[in-house]
Amino acid sequence: VLRINALRKQFSGVEVLKGIDLEVRMGETVAILGSSGSGKSTLLRCVNCLEIPTGGSVWLDGEIMGYRRERNGALRRLTESQMAVQRRKVGMVFQNFNLFPHWTVLENIADGPRSVLHLSKSDAKERGMALLTRVGLQDRADAYPRQLSGGQQQRVAIARALALEPAVLLFDEPTSALDPENVGEVTDVMSALAESGATMLVVTHELGFARAAADRAVFMHDGVILEQGTPADVFDHARELRTQEFMRKTL
Ligand code: ATP
Ligand code: MG
Repeated sequence: VLRINALRKQFSGVEVLKGIDLEVRMGETVAILGSSGSGKSTLLRCVNCLEIPTGGSVWLDGEIMGYRRERNGALRRLTESQMAVQRRKVGMVFQNFNLFPHWTVLENIADGPRSVLHLSKSDAKERGMALLTRVGLQDRADAYPRQLSGGQQQRVAIARALALEPAVLLFDEPTSALDPENVGEVTDVMSALAESGATMLVVTHELGFARAAADRAVFMHDGVILEQGTPADVFDHARELRTQEFMRKTL
């Protein structure tokens, strides 16, 4: 479903992604690990067209992200608004929730279905409530984000990412900003999603979650994928010294 081909990204002459090849099949959950600055967030941002790659391509369901094919076969860059349409296929959950503070929980979730999919107010509300139930927050629909714990806010952010029924979900360290006692409720929701067949690419340092929920683990170092395999392979039997060092520090 998602194919990343020879992806490169430079910032002012410095290459931070040096040719990434990665495929995430339908229903698969892939965990990405790597030390700070290895390019994990940049990779997700390129998948989502929040950054424009300097080389390579990202394919989602047969379409190249950021481009469309003209009748003569040539590729043409999408405009920002065309890109926004394409981006709906990609749900993204950030470290810091990014909820609208002046909207209730339900408004945060129902906004996309309403303004993007043009559902009626009651249909959008119904979809929002179904998603809130899925993340266990149906009784907090009328609360404002600041009235919720970090873990609850992140569950709302996940429900919001699901609201447009994306083909793939990207998570960028979704539990890193949480108090330790809030991490489990968020990884539980993510595990249930993975279990239910969602296609997910997850940057995380939660090895327990990755071990239980990910089909594959990828270790990035300095802009390349250094190694990948099953979580057990990568965590317990890493071949590369850098990976072994990282796992020792993270465990
Ligand atoms: P972390 O674990 O700290 O989140 P990361 O693996 O997500 O790290 P990135 O945020 O992708 O790493 O950054 C990779 C490199 O690219 C870093 O050296 C960073 O300073 C640089 N970088 C990222 N975004 C920009 C930008 N907009 N302009 C310039 N340099 C950038
Ligand atoms: Mg990052």
